[in-house]
Amino acid sequence: MKGKLITLEGIDGSGKSTITRFLNSHPAFSDAVFTREPTRSWIGDAVYKAIESDTDDLAELMLFTADHANHIATLIRPALEEGKIVISDRYSDSRYAYQGVTLRDRFENPMEWVQQIHEGWTVVPDLTILFDIDPEISVQRCGKRGEQTKFEKIDLLSGVRENYLRLAEKEPERFVIIDTDRELKEIENDVLQAITSIIES
Ligand code: ADP
Repeated sequence: MKGKLITLEGIDGSGKSTITRFLNSHPAFSDAVFTREPTRSWIGDAVYKAIESDTDDLAELMLFTADHANHIATLIRPALEEGKIVISDRYSDSRYAYQGVTLRDRFENPMEWVQQIHEGWTVVPDLTILFDIDPEISVQRCGKRGEQTKFEKIDLLSGVRENYLRLAEKEPERFVIIDTDRELKEIENDVLQAITSIIES
């Protein structure tokens, strides 16, 4: 595929949406396709319903994964084939990291199990920017915006953060880790540099 797929990952409150807004308004990305998971679609809506209710964790994973499959088929693949830069706020690593925690009582190696069910059909990103932050700080930031989902609890987020860091350690050539407990300007510069180097490669 001719385009480039860049994904933004990290726990809730790590700053992904803030940077997405910055990139969206940056002239270098005026032709880029901005997207997110869960998607804005009926399957994405079903995912949000699952998150906000007591839905079984495995059922929830299947909904997330269905949304991912549809996202790839309807948006990601066509855009990459057209040579576009695609920037997704959350993508497959969110599933590996989050469901790697929520399913830990169901499988021996939940993160690896979730990764396996993506094999053979997902599109692996060219670059994944991991926004890394202490969950204590991210929860404080989320508190400010006045919303709390079950994914925003510190214990859970600590496990998710560990999983993200494990993923990054396993694939250092795909991941760039950004410390987001810093001034926004510094984060913006590091993100721009990481994206520019992948686009020019
Ligand atoms: P995410 O999309 O990863 O959940 P957001 O971008 O929504 O995170 O950020 C969560 C909150 O933290 C928002 O209120 C945002 O304004 C604030 N925030 C984001 N980045 C920073 C930063 N570098 N320093 C301080 N606050 C930040």
